[in-house]
Amino acid sequence: LLFFIRTDVASVSPWSAPIIWEGNFDSTLIDSIYKQQNLTIATTVFALGKYTRFVKDFLESAEQHYFVGFRVHYYLFTDQPESVPEVKMGENRSLTVQNVPSLNRWQDISMSRMEKLENLIENELVNEADYIFCLDIDTKFYGRWGAETLGRLVGVIHPWFFDAPRSQFTYERRPESKAYIPVEEGDYYYAGAAFGGSLEDVHHLTKTCREQLNIDAANSIEAVWQEESHLNKYFLLNKPSKLLSPEYMWRDINEKAAQIKIVRFTNVPKNYAEVRPNP
Ligand code: UDP
Repeated sequence: LLFFIRTDVASVSPWSAPIIWEGNFDSTLIDSIYKQQNLTIATTVFALGKYTRFVKDFLESAEQHYFVGFRVHYYLFTDQPESVPEVKMGENRSLTVQNVPSLNRWQDISMSRMEKLENLIENELVNEADYIFCLDIDTKFYGRWGAETLGRLVGVIHPWFFDAPRSQFTYERRPESKAYIPVEEGDYYYAGAAFGGSLEDVHHLTKTCREQLNIDAANSIEAVWQEESHLNKYFLLNKPSKLLSPEYMWRDINEKAAQIKIVRFTNVPKNYAEVRPNP
């Protein structure tokens, strides 16, 4: 059996966690291993305000590419349940819609996800799912996202910083914030738009980030990239057991980079001024 690992990208982190890149795994073999485990993958998205427009493409493309052949339970949090489109789901796939109040600031919408996820895991997912992924909704799948991504604690390397030196990472740099990371620390810059893992690990992640966000709020400080900053602090102190390459959270389907052989999941371009509730 010959199997070649790519040499143009790193395939492990310094703590020996695999970094998942196209070309470095056999998807048929991976599926055959994980299919025997009868897994359920909970998948959460939020669509408040004008972000409801992204739901249809997200769900339709996920049905084409995301954990195909596995049991997937989507949880969609929205302030407009009536706007959720009818999307035909495959076998063993379901959607639960949860009504949440609208919020006035996009920063609050984005940050409040940590608490909602913490509560969902605690109250509804125990004994219902094995793994969870928490994803942005202004996104679309174009390629396989499958069992190769499963792990205890999974982070995605941010598409703008995978090739950048640490000094350019946009960590929170003010010591007053709980998300503070000094210039000489940090491993990777992780995307806030996608993370996941076991229920237990993601529960601990969301609970910790929610607590740190609350402490910052009480001290009247908001981290530069809100919950993404706190996620980066969390992953500095609690190393992910698996890292996903930016194939799993790309900038835009039309953008190219030499290392990106396939775009699996990508941001959808948007007019920020038009979709956000506040500047
Ligand atoms: N979001 C939302 N409504 C809003 C703003 C944000 O539902 O008005 C949710 C949505 O799930 C989105 C996520 O928060 O994917 C992250 O916000 P945004 O896309 O603005 O962050 P960006 O990744 O562009 O910085």
